[in-house]
Amino acid sequence: MFKKILIANRGEIALRIQRACRELGVKSVVVYSEADRDAKYVKLADEAVCIGPAPSSQSYLSMPAIIATAEVTDAEAIHPGYGFLSENADFAERVERSGFTFIGPTSENIRMMGDKVSAKQAMIRAGVPCVPGSEGALPEDPKEIIKIARAVGYPVIIKAAGGGGGRGMRVVHTEAALVNAVQMTRTEAGAAFGNPQVYMEKFLENPRHVEIQILADSHKNAVWLGERDCSMQRRHQKIIEEAPAPGIPRRSIEKVGDRCAAACKKMGYRGAGTFEFLYENGEFYFIEMNTRVQVEHPVTEMVTGIDIVQQQIKIAAGEKLPFTQRNIEMRGHAIECRINAEDPVKFVPSPGRITTWHAPGGPGVRVDSHAYTNYFVPPTYDSMIGKIICHGDTREQAMARMRIALSETVVEGIQTNIPLHRELMADAKFMEGGTSIHYLESWMSEHKR
Ligand code: ADP
Repeated sequence: MFKKILIANRGEIALRIQRACRELGVKSVVVYSEADRDAKYVKLADEAVCIGPAPSSQSYLSMPAIIATAEVTDAEAIHPGYGFLSENADFAERVERSGFTFIGPTSENIRMMGDKVSAKQAMIRAGVPCVPGSEGALPEDPKEIIKIARAVGYPVIIKAAGGGGGRGMRVVHTEAALVNAVQMTRTEAGAAFGNPQVYMEKFLENPRHVEIQILADSHKNAVWLGERDCSMQRRHQKIIEEAPAPGIPRRSIEKVGDRCAAACKKMGYRGAGTFEFLYENGEFYFIEMNTRVQVEHPVTEMVTGIDIVQQQIKIAAGEKLPFTQRNIEMRGHAIECRINAEDPVKFVPSPGRITTWHAPGGPGVRVDSHAYTNYFVPPTYDSMIGKIICHGDTREQAMARMRIALSETVVEGIQTNIPLHRELMADAKFMEGGTSIHYLESWMSEHKR
């Protein structure tokens, strides 16, 4: 096991990784920007190093600053968390070339999954079900593009190979709009991602977002840890996640889960990862793979009892997975609400000083947050300030516990989306389970949001 790990991230996930290190008896080094100087996890860290000013381009995205800090603090490995440099293949490569261990997959695997065209091709080869569409990137010839769209069937969605974060996509309903839409997406993709390649998929009208968590070690073992339903989204941003996905037959989940684990073995994948699918009419369609720990990993931890972050660290240290697929049991139901510092109606960020922070508690309640009374939420970063996760024997119990937890939570001084979560937890359709990725936005327009 490593003696010391550098945490190249901030906020709740920096604290989450710090806790995993403590439990493993590993010392941790926290890097922070000037805006995060007063964060509690910085004060509680074994070692903390300021790596630059608030803008992430000069701190959390600065590869030289992070690698130099690992050198001066004698860290052996770097955990990238999520966001920032976590899916940057060049960073993974530089970390390893500088003699440190990158806690994550190989740079080759990150690169392959970061390009959605090559990711999809790898999935097709591994037998993972994908959305029907173009075979690889679209050609230049407009006639060819029209032919492909006819074969796929309208509506189609044009997506950038290098896209991410819900950007670089365009839905096309008619042949008349097709060629122009492809051209526009290409131009935008070139400017935004430095890669003008685009591909085409059938546009699914009313799917759910269901994803499979996997863990793979460097000894050719791979398992899947069940699924998460993350359909409650606004502008492609997830706000509520749960495990298991309500109402989906176990047999079809098992089938796709086994495919994901097999794909990991085939790719030589190591570490934690998530296969994201759209689920419609009883079928799964792969859309992308995330090669890192995800915000919503706690719901899986709650139902499986497996600490995903500790497993990431152990895998990076070369250990074998301590369980096989048969040992993995899902118990009960877990649900997570992301707490964002934002106006609950208009969704504009609401940074500033938290004058009161009272976190909930009780059976089955977990709070992952770096916030506290008197904490200043900087305006510079993502607005998520924490997550409340509730577990119960049944979905109903998990939701009841979440309702109580949300009623106990007090955040003053800034605005949060807690009032929105309170409403959603009492919404009849959501309580039934199985709402689609469009549900939240239609709910909002019905509620005049
Ligand atoms: P990103 O990396 O930008 O998140 P994804 O490929 O994961 O891109 O797609 C983001 C979201 O776009 C999905 O969660 C879904 O809401 C929508 N989407 C993507 N592909 C399709 C599709 N073929 N049909 C319908 N919606 C899609």
